[in-house]
Formats: sequence, C-alpha cells, structure tokens
Amino acid sequence: MKRKLVVANWKMNGDRARNRVLLDYILGGMPSGVDCAVCVPFPYLPQVGEILEGRAIALGAQDVSEFSGGAYTGDVSAAMLADWRVRFVVVGHSERRALHLESDDVVGRKAAAALGSGLTPIVCVGETLAERESGAAEQVLLRQLDALAAVLPSELQRVVVAYEPVWAIGTGRAATAEQVQEVLYFVRRWLARHVEDANQVRILYGGSVKPDTARQLFGLPDANGGLIGGASLEAQPFLEICRAAASSARSS
Ligand code: PEP
Repeated sequence: MKRKLVVANWKMNGDRARNRVLLDYILGGMPSGVDCAVCVPFPYLPQVGEILEGRAIALGAQDVSEFSGGAYTGDVSAAMLADWRVRFVVVGHSERRALHLESDDVVGRKAAAALGSGLTPIVCVGETLAERESGAAEQVLLRQLDALAAVLPSELQRVVVAYEPVWAIGTGRAATAEQVQEVLYFVRRWLARHVEDANQVRILYGGSVKPDTARQLFGLPDANGGLIGGASLEAQPFLEICRAAASSARSS
C-alpha cells in the first residue's frame, strides 16, 4: 500500500470562524498523493462536512458510542455519524482511556459499532512511560490488540491501527524512529496472525509529529501515515506533514 494516510485530530479545539479559515488554507495547499482526514468535535461535523463536500479530505469524528441508540445521554451513535457522512472515527484515544476510563473491551465494542455503520475506526493503542520503562510495553499493546480481535474477528481487516505512545502525545517528545518501527512491526506481525492480508491494514504513528520529523517517521517500513494532534491546528505545519507523507510514499 503506497498512499499514506494523514489524520488530523483537533481534539477539543476550534470554533466556526477558525475552522473555516483553517480548512480553506489546508484545502488550498493539500498535495496530491496522500489520503487525509480531519477528526473534529461533534458540533462541527455539519459545518466541516459541508466545507469538505466533494473535496479530497475525509470527515472524521473523535469518538463513538458502543451502543446503537436509546438512553445514553451525551453519547453519539455510529449511525448518527454515518448520517453526517463521517468516514473515520478515532476510538480508544489515550485521553479517553485515561480521562473517561475506557477499557480495552469498550474500545473494541466502539470499533465494532463503527464498522457496523460503515465507518473506519482508527483504533489507538500505546503504552505509558511507566509501562515502557518497566519493560511492559509489548504486553500492554498485546492486551489492547487482543481485546480488538475478540470483538472483530472477521472485520479487523478494515480497521486502521494508530500506535500512539502515551508519553509522546502532546509532549513535544516524539518516539525515535527506531522505537516507532519496532512497535509498528510488532503490530504488523500481530495483524498477520489475525487478518488475511496484514499489509493492507494501515498502521499510523501518532505522538508529537512535526514537519521536521514527519518524513523520517513516514518513511519507516511499517508506517502508513500519522495521527496528528497539535500540529494539525495550524495550516502550515499540517500541510508540510501532508507533503512529507506524499513524498515518502513516492520514494518508497
Ligand atoms: C493525538 O492527540 O492523537 C496526538 C498525536 O497529539 P500530538 O500530535 O499533539 O502529540
């Protein structure tokens, strides 16, 4: 798979005026040869969906309910997202795992709900610094991935996996290329045991990706793109990251 996927995660940022300006710049400079999605807060899905209508950037959300409907105040179902033509949804982001106590099983069920409505879940996995330093990183990743396999045996082929070491998110401290490739390869081998064609599943890296590190990270043998937080909130760095993804796909 040659084309890389670059996904913006705006987190809880933006307002209607800023969203429009930011997207106008991004749409004006988006290079060809890269797939791109923007995951925005729920209230902005209609606005951003309209701006992206017919354009080369896909609409994404940042969470989805594991339930299909009913008495779940504050939740948003996968069918509701699909109704707004959302294509991607982030599930299991470490901020949700930590702040909303989402377990591996819940994350698996959210991914299943997304797939059930035709969305592509971007499933985030990753270890904390303490887990890495105690040598437990692979064990944690395995637990997170196995929970996914339990829910989605026949549909895993359609997920996107994002490796996001918790200690690299929003810290300015990206993992080294060597650390990233080691885990991406670990994920690829895990996929090979669970899906028909592991090379067709996209694995992204996320965690303080910046324009100056993007090219090297995206050029890693098992990297199919990136999940970008802070650097996706301004057009210039985000576009540079997209260009790095496009050019690393060309040279691979
Ligand atoms: C993220 O929140 O998914 C993320 C990768 O954030 P940042 O790029 O700011 O580290």
